Amino acid sequence: MEHFAELCARFPKVVWEREFSFARHTTIGCGGTASLAASPADLETAAELIAYLRRSHIPHCFLGAGANVLPADGRFEGVVVRFCRLKTLYADGETIYAGAGVTGGALLRFAEANGLGGLECFTGIPMTVGGGVTMNAGVAEGHFSDVVTGVVGVREGRIAVFSRRDCAFSEKTSIFGNGTAVIGAYLKGSASSPQEIAERRAHFRAARAHLPRGRSMGCVFVNPEGDFAGRLIAQCGLKGTRVGGAVVSCGHGNFILNEGGTSADVSALIALIREEVLRQTGILLREEIRRLP
Ligand SMILES: Cc1cc2nc3c(=O)[nH]c(=O)nc-3n(C[C@H](O)[C@H](O)[C@H](O)COP(=O)(O)OP(=O)(O)OC[C@H]3O[C@@H](n4cnc5c(N)ncnc54)[C@H](O)[C@@H]3O)c2cc1C
Repeated sequence: MEHFAELCARFPKVVWEREFSFARHTTIGCGGTASLAASPADLETAAELIAYLRRSHIPHCFLGAGANVLPADGRFEGVVVRFCRLKTLYADGETIYAGAGVTGGALLRFAEANGLGGLECFTGIPMTVGGGVTMNAGVAEGHFSDVVTGVVGVREGRIAVFSRRDCAFSEKTSIFGNGTAVIGAYLKGSASSPQEIAERRAHFRAARAHLPRGRSMGCVFVNPEGDFAGRLIAQCGLKGTRVGGAVVSCGHGNFILNEGGTSADVSALIALIREEVLRQTGILLREEIRRLP
């Protein structure tokens, strides 16, 4: 990539990776290669890097744990900004600060060790805090929008603190992700005994036992008002439908499993599902997953 030497010289503390494979860094396990990936280790460098990429019109995208994205096949001549080194975690009273790169598992272990409950609904959701906030991840019993008290982000190249209201959380969406990065978040816990937390975590873990195993992005579509996308897909007889290596899970209609296919296979299957559900029910399903880059 033409900018590589210049970027390395300007940002020596950033860890740079060349020929970054989307297939190896996403749960769906397909997609092409990006010419570069960048992992800054502190908030200021993350903000400066994003500002520089923006100012210099260098194509870039953000990646968390890669659990809700479908990366395109082929080559991305640009930079994947990763947040995995932003791992600060501390508690101040009942508030937890977590860097964008803290994983869901690390967040829950920390909360439990500090006697802070209220986050157990995130048990088993593959994510980083940055991706979780961006997608307003959660389950019926709770979402990030219920626990976020503030987000440290980068907007237009500057670090800014967003109140919960500023985040404009809604069903599987927020203001983040479209050029605005999450670099850390303040989350509200509530004092709980280790036993209570462990019991609630076990409850949420058990509730996920039925989810399909294999390479997926979790739910592909947002549930339409008053219904479930998975139920509609099943009702339309689409479970088990296959395009190349992509197949609709026979267990959960809203999951697409990648069995050695390409991103194009997954995309074609998504299009087929949307068309067929629209034809049979009149309902146009909205994608929950995000396309990269
Ligand atoms: C098996 C399985 C089960 C799942 N179950 C659930 C569930 O129960 N509930 C649920 O809500 N989700 C679920 N998901 C989806 C996924 O776990 C969540 O959407 C999660 O929040 C994704 O986080 P991530 O860090 O992987 O983000 P990514 O998938 O890496 O990114 C998602 C989007 O956020 C952007 N992004 C990532 N990090 C940042 C950042 N720091 N700043 C700005 N933008 C950023 C990306 O560009 C992309 O647009 C599941 C997924 C799988 C594979």
